[in-house]
Amino acid sequence: MIKAPRGTRDLLPPDTALWNFVEAAVRDVFRAYNFHETRTPIFESTELFARGVGEETDIVTKEMFTWEDPQQRYVQLRDSYIEASNAFKEGRPPSGKLVPLELLAGTQSLTLRPENTAGIVRAYIEHKLWDRGLNKFFSIGPMFRRERPQKGRYRQFYQIDAEVIGPPSSGSESPARDAEILELVATLLDRVGITGWTLQLNSVGCPVDRAKFNEALKQALAPVIDKMCVDCQRRAVTNPLRVFDCKVPEDQPIIATLPTISQFLDEACRAHYEEVKSILNAVQIPYVENPRLVRGLDYYTRTAFEFTHGSLGAQNAILGGGRYDGLSKALGGPAAPGIGFAIGEDRLVLALAASVESVYRKPDVYIAPLGPGLNGEAARLARELRRHDLVVELGDGSFRLKKSFEAADKMGARYILIVGENEVAANAFALKNLASGEQVTVPRSELAERILRK
Ligand code: AMP
Repeated sequence: MIKAPRGTRDLLPPDTALWNFVEAAVRDVFRAYNFHETRTPIFESTELFARGVGEETDIVTKEMFTWEDPQQRYVQLRDSYIEASNAFKEGRPPSGKLVPLELLAGTQSLTLRPENTAGIVRAYIEHKLWDRGLNKFFSIGPMFRRERPQKGRYRQFYQIDAEVIGPPSSGSESPARDAEILELVATLLDRVGITGWTLQLNSVGCPVDRAKFNEALKQALAPVIDKMCVDCQRRAVTNPLRVFDCKVPEDQPIIATLPTISQFLDEACRAHYEEVKSILNAVQIPYVENPRLVRGLDYYTRTAFEFTHGSLGAQNAILGGGRYDGLSKALGGPAAPGIGFAIGEDRLVLALAASVESVYRKPDVYIAPLGPGLNGEAARLARELRRHDLVVELGDGSFRLKKSFEAADKMGARYILIVGENEVAANAFALKNLASGEQVTVPRSELAERILRK
């Protein structure tokens, strides 16, 4: 038997109704905050993630699904070949960048997206979205990381992303944006019915602050590093800040003694952080400060945050995010400060208070034609009832009535509508409530209204 690959799962009914409920609510909330949807590719050049997520991150070093794509070579070869031969025919020098032959011998490295901030910022730069006055984006879709699967952690999982990005003149650096994003998340969680979340907040400062902090960390780590895990030993050399990502229990007491970034923030970063907190207080969004929250990605500056939820166990983060003022430039774009977050939709659905029953719609009525000659009449009735926004399931005239009853019962239909010769002649149909057993004859023109009545 062929099964779904390890770390992936099928989202099936009735659970998909919960997913749709969440996504519809999320779209409503985004609309109220003037966010617009983007749909970027599920795979991108590997280089985008190496630069945008960071060469030294666990995501890039261990978790990406990457492949060498030979087709790209063919396209490059063809394009440059066509341009070269056109130029030759027209007696002019070839225009544009011709791909050198050495490069043609290679392949292009592609990667399934492990997150979507880099993709959205890539699209922002590629299409000069600032020219169109667009600066608030969201996307909903699958991400891929080769992680060890467990409850709440998958290799294909879904994220709801939001990003605010724009030229500094658009106010994209303002602490008001940070507070607005955090308030949006709180609204969104309330809206889907998630209670008991905790907002953890920190500022990771600017690159200068972090360089100083990294120095201090290196010194603090030197005497203890040989007692820590191999990953931390590597991090201590390459990027000490990442030690805070460590989840190894034995390392935690050591990590608790390390200095924190808050002592190293410069005046501007400190003021920015204070203003974010003061707006949060004004709109009454509760938060706890967590000076060890640094986030695993290179491009984060200043505000970093996570929303956690008690019911989720070890994988308790529903979402994480923060400011990334340096990302656009790191990807070759203009200066464009930004802030965003990614909600783990799988975990959001796990933490939902809403039950499947409250959002899953079963058929209102099952139509049972009593004979093959009545399929057309049954289809006409179904068409009429569906126009009234009823959920209609259609039986088959070759079924015995008993089989229709069983089918209607199994799918949880509220009513069964019997379509026989006599009913058609009288233009009135037997409608039976499957829960109460009550049966009435209803004129065709009153059917929809009768079924809609609960
Ligand atoms: P990150 O991009 O690592 O900050 O993750 C943002 C959110 O995505 C996390 O808070 C999780 O809710 C979710 N997430 C990350 N990795 C996974 C995974 N492997 N499986 C399910 N959800 C994940």
